[in-house]
Amino acid sequence: MLIEKQYKFYAAHRNEELNDKCRNLHGHRYGVRCVFRVERQGEISTLFGDFDSKIEPWLKQRYDHAMLIHTKDPLYQSLLLHEQRTGESLRMKLFDRPTSVENLCFQLFSEIVEMGFCLERLEVQETDTSTVTYTQADWLSDKTTFASECGERYSDPASKARCSDQSVTMA
Ligand SMILES: [Zn+2]
Repeated sequence: MLIEKQYKFYAAHRNEELNDKCRNLHGHRYGVRCVFRVERQGEISTLFGDFDSKIEPWLKQRYDHAMLIHTKDPLYQSLLLHEQRTGESLRMKLFDRPTSVENLCFQLFSEIVEMGFCLERLEVQETDTSTVTYTQADWLSDKTTFASECGERYSDPASKARCSDQSVTMA
């Protein structure tokens, strides 16, 4: 059975590798649509609130009104200096790679799976007219690619089987 839930958050970012308008600091209202695979157990039905009670606080604390920033973007060092200089604490969501919508999909997908959900598909809407659909196959493929870039980091052999092992059963 598939269950779909929609969330949203507001965040700032830029793509420092591009030489167009996306290089400027700007913000989006990100729409996040999650399609979960759930196994039904007897008469007990899924409570939509079981998803919300984990996903909503996580998005609010980590992503909402945060600056999504690649740690290799020189701007990151400037923001750290600003924090040191002023004592101000900025909400920053750190990325190992540029904060493109595709990399955001990978990051969100990984964190949702780590929470124990079996995520079939994720759709991230960045603007009124642009949405990326990111499947479990895309995620597994990115994990393999990033693992070869970063050594052993994502190469946990058990993680590929994770979704079938850990289908969330709602009570
Ligand atoms: Zn953008």
